[in-house]
Amino acid sequence: MKKMNMEEAVRTRGTTEVGTRFINSSGKPFAEFASGDSFSAEFEILRADLAGLFMESVESLDNVQFKYGDYIKSLEQTPKNINVTFAGGSNETFDLVVGADGTTSTTRPMILDEPILKDGFNFIGQYIAFFTIPSQPTDGKFWLCYNAPKGLSVMIRPHRNTSTMGAYLCITTPKHGVQDPVVEKAMDQGTEETKKMLREYFKDAGWEAMRVLDGMDQADDFYMSRATQVILPKWTNSRALVIGDAAFATFGVGTTLAIESAYVLAGELSKIQSSEEVLQAVERYEEVFRPLYKKMEVLPRGFPQVAFPQTKWALGLRDSVLWGVSKTGLYKLFQGGEGQKWNLPEYEWADVPEMSKSVSI
Ligand SMILES: Cc1cc2nc3c(=O)[nH]c(=O)nc-3n(C[C@H](O)[C@H](O)[C@H](O)COP(=O)(O)OP(=O)(O)OC[C@H]3O[C@@H](n4cnc5c(N)ncnc54)[C@H](O)[C@@H]3O)c2cc1C
Repeated sequence: MKKMNMEEAVRTRGTTEVGTRFINSSGKPFAEFASGDSFSAEFEILRADLAGLFMESVESLDNVQFKYGDYIKSLEQTPKNINVTFAGGSNETFDLVVGADGTTSTTRPMILDEPILKDGFNFIGQYIAFFTIPSQPTDGKFWLCYNAPKGLSVMIRPHRNTSTMGAYLCITTPKHGVQDPVVEKAMDQGTEETKKMLREYFKDAGWEAMRVLDGMDQADDFYMSRATQVILPKWTNSRALVIGDAAFATFGVGTTLAIESAYVLAGELSKIQSSEEVLQAVERYEEVFRPLYKKMEVLPRGFPQVAFPQTKWALGLRDSVLWGVSKTGLYKLFQGGEGQKWNLPEYEWADVPEMSKSVSI
């Protein structure tokens, strides 16, 4: 963000969250972590606000074209370029296609072959619903996390706009890869059925579950997703590649990886002088970024099942551990290790050559 001169803008649009509190069923905190220490990151910004900032910085450029309401239907690579057919019917030719269409990317199978995609998707056994609810004067600026047995969790987090709060309802299954057939069926049936299912699951969960469920019924930004890690042995194929969640969806650092991978790709492209050299830049991108990403590929052992347990007993144990580490500050000893270091390459931005055309979807 510093390299893009965006740090200040991100800070001024942050959600204002000051830390994370784990609470019991009466709303009393038993463990607290300051912002930047662990759960609440140094930067907390809503995805739409971050996307808005990126848009603001490029929409005035006359060499960038935006298309809305359309998507790629097919791709055909030739030795010199890549032909794209859009669902809207148009055909265009590009030097490079970057699939940045998220975890459920439909462009990915057009770019990467089946053997590369096989085994690339790891459902970690968690469903997350996210939406906006009205705030209450007692809400404050902490991320409040409440857990109940059967892997249920209700969370609310502050927004910059003081009249609303972000709400999450999480359902965690006992093991990675294990689906909940009731949740699956409801999600396949659409938003209304999903909301009905959540009401049934959370009606007796405790704390402010009823308030959150009532807010959910009114929310117009509701969505629910299956928490899936994407791990692929290759992200690039000649003049096409996937980036961000489409290539390496993970947890906690997804946005960091998405931004940094785009930075490295842009940097490697900035070093070439012609369309012929795009292939080299693409190869180099994978060479440079994969070692940076590798440090983030493995999730903490037992995540998320240990943090969202099924039984009252396991939840009590988890709460005791959280209480202990928050009181002693022991977790700070494990921060700043090798895995936390990100040495980004430097690029000479001033000499970016004029490309014939590029598209990001
Ligand atoms: C509930 C939840 C909480 C999260 N919390 C955090 C967090 O605290 N910290 C963190 O770092 N990350 C978090 N993440 C992950 C983070 O949101 C992603 O890692 C990040 O948004 C990835 O960016 P992206 O641009 O690759 O993909 P996305 O943000 O998913 O963007 C993909 C875009 O492509 C569009 N699209 C889809 N299909 C097509 C198509 N065929 N053609 C054109 N466009 C298409 C979509 O509409 C979307 O706008 C969270 C994710 C979820 C679901």
